Amino acid sequence: MKIQNRIALIFTFLTAGIIIALSVFVYTFSRKGVENSFFHRLEVRADIVGHASLHENKSQTSIYYDIKEKHLGDLPYEHHTIIRTGDIDKVNSLKSSLPVSPSFYDQIVRKEPARYFDSDTSYVGLNITLEGKNIIIISKAVDLYGLEELENLQNLLVTGFFIAMIFVFTFGKLFSNQVFEPIRRIIRNVKGINAHNLNQRLTVDETKDEMGDLSKTFNDMLDRLEITFEMQNNFVSNASHEFRTPLTIISGEAQIGLSLPQLSPEARESFQVIFKEVEKLEHLTNSMLNLAQTGFDGKREQWEKLRIDELIFSVKGSIDQIMPANDVTINFDDLPDDESMLEVNGNEALLKAAFTNIVLNSCKYSDNKPVSVIIRNQGPHVVVEVIDQGIGIPNREIAQIFVPFFRASNTNRYKGHGIGLPLTNNIIKMHQGSISVNSTVGVGTHFITYLPVIR
Ligand code: ADP
Repeated sequence: MKIQNRIALIFTFLTAGIIIALSVFVYTFSRKGVENSFFHRLEVRADIVGHASLHENKSQTSIYYDIKEKHLGDLPYEHHTIIRTGDIDKVNSLKSSLPVSPSFYDQIVRKEPARYFDSDTSYVGLNITLEGKNIIIISKAVDLYGLEELENLQNLLVTGFFIAMIFVFTFGKLFSNQVFEPIRRIIRNVKGINAHNLNQRLTVDETKDEMGDLSKTFNDMLDRLEITFEMQNNFVSNASHEFRTPLTIISGEAQIGLSLPQLSPEARESFQVIFKEVEKLEHLTNSMLNLAQTGFDGKREQWEKLRIDELIFSVKGSIDQIMPANDVTINFDDLPDDESMLEVNGNEALLKAAFTNIVLNSCKYSDNKPVSVIIRNQGPHVVVEVIDQGIGIPNREIAQIFVPFFRASNTNRYKGHGIGLPLTNNIIKMHQGSISVNSTVGVGTHFITYLPVIR
């Protein structure tokens, strides 16, 4: 998950936690308030009814009921039960019929206010003494209005919670999007910098914040890289000159020596060995220089639009000259109808060298057994597969075949220097492509190269 989304989610969960805690707090307090106020109203009525029942004088009793009727009114489902002290049977039948807790009765006996709430009904109990007479009154009623208020509050809090979550997540995403925009811009810019435009730099904001620091650090690193690349470039050019000149002189001298008429057979053989070895050394030097150069500098090469099928055709032509006994066939069965799907942006000489290396290896390491080259298109890539039936590469050594000078343990009877594949890999990487290898010893090797199609 992207950090941007993670931040938006964390932001949302955190706010959800706070809103839930706040909602529970508000609801609990409101509920307590509503319950207490209703208990109080019920207790006032219980008190009036209790006192009215204790008066012997009927006119006094009716005054109590009048006051209750005129000033207080009846509560929904209001009901009063009066028990005269000593009426044990009534107490017992009441205990079994009401859902209140045992402590409720203890509180009444101790003359403390007894209150109890069960599902939607409120119960209060009072112990009233008047003129030597004592009664217990248990009253109940339903707070329809209060319950409705609480339900409304609950709905309001739940709806408010979901609306708040939608807002928080949307704004969290917008916020993190904005925060990460400078980072995305840096990533876009860095992606655009490669060996061909190493002189490019990131734009540094004047804001002097962390993003500005990051861009500046990248730019400093690119400065150092450019200097190192430049130094390597100079080193390679100088080394190229320094190596080539003496090698050319040695091979020229060997040729002159070979042309001398009075040369003894031993001396001729020595000159021939010198000439052959210098040729090998020249080849090796050139390959090494090529490898070093492709590894860091592509800006000198000429880049153009190339058709891979045409390129592979010319690779086959070169291989026919170098190894006339080869059995390479190009398989065009999977070619796409749209020819533009085979076009890549690249340097012809380098790509030709890369594919020639792969196909020549296949011919060499299979002693000219059949080699099949398949060209096809796969999404945004042109794919070139080279399949041989050669000696294969030991499994544990496959990972190292792109390391310069590495040669697998089963190649003793084949000539080579271990430079061709690292060079090929560098060339393909320069073209934003990739290579993968599957191989089984004694069965064969399968190279798959991917190059991006021009968009
Ligand atoms: P070399 O000059 O040794 O062929 P490369 O760099 O071209 O050097 O190849 C590196 C190593 O990869 C080779 O030495 C060989 O062990 C292995 N290799 C490359 N291609 C093949 C192939 N088609 N079949 C078997 N082994 C291969």
